[in-house]
Amino acid sequence: MDNQVEEIKQKVNIIDVINRYVPLKKRGRHHFACCPFHGEKTPSFTVSEELQIFKCFGCGKAGDVFTFLQEYERIDFREALEELAKLSGVTLIKSSLIDHQESKKKLLIEINSQVAKFYNYILLSHSLGKDALEYVTNRGITLETIKTFNIGFSPEDSKYLSNFILKKGYKIDDLIDTGTFGNSRFNSGLYDRFNGRLTFPLLDYRGHIVGFSGRILPTSKNPNLAKYINSPETEIYHKSQMLFGLNLAKEAIRQENSVIVVEGEFDMISPFQSGFKNIVALKGTAFTQDQLQLLRRYTDTLILALDSDFAGNNAARKSIELADSMEFDIKVLNLGDKYKDPDEAIKSDLEFFKFQFKKATDVWDFIIQSQLKIHDINTIKGKKEVLSVVLPLLIKIKNSVVKSDYFKKLANEINSSEESIYEEAKKYQNSNPTNFKLIPKGVEIIETSESKTEKLEELLLTLIIGAKDPVKLSQKLKKYLDQLTVSRFKTIAKYLLEKEDLTLRQILDSLPAEIKPLFENLYFESQKNQIDSVARLSEIKKATNNINKILLKDRLNQLSNQITKFESEENEEALKEVETEYNQTLEKLHQLQTNKI
Ligand SMILES: [Zn+2]
Repeated sequence: MDNQVEEIKQKVNIIDVINRYVPLKKRGRHHFACCPFHGEKTPSFTVSEELQIFKCFGCGKAGDVFTFLQEYERIDFREALEELAKLSGVTLIKSSLIDHQESKKKLLIEINSQVAKFYNYILLSHSLGKDALEYVTNRGITLETIKTFNIGFSPEDSKYLSNFILKKGYKIDDLIDTGTFGNSRFNSGLYDRFNGRLTFPLLDYRGHIVGFSGRILPTSKNPNLAKYINSPETEIYHKSQMLFGLNLAKEAIRQENSVIVVEGEFDMISPFQSGFKNIVALKGTAFTQDQLQLLRRYTDTLILALDSDFAGNNAARKSIELADSMEFDIKVLNLGDKYKDPDEAIKSDLEFFKFQFKKATDVWDFIIQSQLKIHDINTIKGKKEVLSVVLPLLIKIKNSVVKSDYFKKLANEINSSEESIYEEAKKYQNSNPTNFKLIPKGVEIIETSESKTEKLEELLLTLIIGAKDPVKLSQKLKKYLDQLTVSRFKTIAKYLLEKEDLTLRQILDSLPAEIKPLFENLYFESQKNQIDSVARLSEIKKATNNINKILLKDRLNQLSNQITKFESEENEEALKEVETEYNQTLEKLHQLQTNKI
């Protein structure tokens, strides 16, 4: 398979592949874009056509075309391989292990699709689903929407689904692996986790049914059951990556360049049905990094329509912090005290919802205002309470201009001075030292000679790799490259020196996997400052001289220790030998320092 990977790599151009997802702009030698992985507004995502690699200088993500596809599409290596094989017209020879995993995932998705079809049939066309259908339509959901979302109903008695699905010939183990079924020890049979529930298929952004959520009906005989349940984590369902409705909403999100984020299924479905197509549900109040990264592909603006007191909710606050650190614009669609959730607002007053959507406010304004409403700022206690909720959030705003604006606003709102707000903010900074890694003034970092040589050797290699013909230059500088002391740099030097007719890309491809990322880094680093070849040579000379100086100084230290030792032992012979070397070393160092070499 390695050969095939190579074959594909030769046939596809990383620029074309990445361009399909992220528009690249060529500037100088490289192509640039805003990073699709961490979210930013000035491009630090860099792609090298020469080496067929990418690197983001903002978040550090780097790799080749396979890594890109895996990370971007959230697929595994095999899937990336298949996609690139298709693109490049290479027919893959199958490997049995990977094939097994793949076909298992496909099988689970297929079973889920059959189950969804069954549930949907029961809801729409079977007497067992009559009450459920009445409940859904009473909630204002149309038949068309039921079909779009493939909503269903799971009959109280599990045997209907079991019979249906077993007739299709699936193995019990596979059915259990979908997470939809359990195997009961007591009545020796399969049971359906969602029985008696209205079911919503959970689809990944590619449209695969990876799991279900189920809502109990108000008419349930067992009212103590949890209102909603979800599939457990399986090979294909990962809660942290689920955004309900994304498969249907993603195009609209891209077009509108914003996404409305709500908590639950009905809160997503009602607005969607009323024309707000750029909407997803979190299935909770907090974002995961995975969910934000998924959304970042389509937009940089979040419009939160979450529970109105989410500012007081710890998990939700963490989400806002996380989204802000990924440079999302975060707005709030405020339903006020009028409606408890978007579903209710849409059904009661669509115009109100539309209006509130249009005037969605920045999240920081919303947080300040929501606190001002519940605390009396004419009292000291009230002011303190407002500050204790608002400041910990404001101090984490990534953009310092925005941050200072909100400090000003807050000062105005509570009739205080900006200075005292800053003073107060310090308290919260200190209570969270991980965010402030500044080294106190006057503390010097002591550099060991090893770390100095390491830096110099890195610089030397960077200078070589950035040259017009790095391979030829390496040959010229063989003497210095042979002297490198850091083993990973030695490895790179060895490959640079190996053959005279290799290109940089061929060298990269032949490097051991664990060294590749380092080489890629050095390469991009080398491209940052363009210097002419004369200046480059002089920089190289400086670096090599400095390396030599350190090596000589280290040697002098060792020798002087030996001298002390031999003196105390009165070992005249050894002493003489060491002293000779000491003087020679000193002479060399002196020559270097006066630049005679
Ligand atoms: Zn990045």
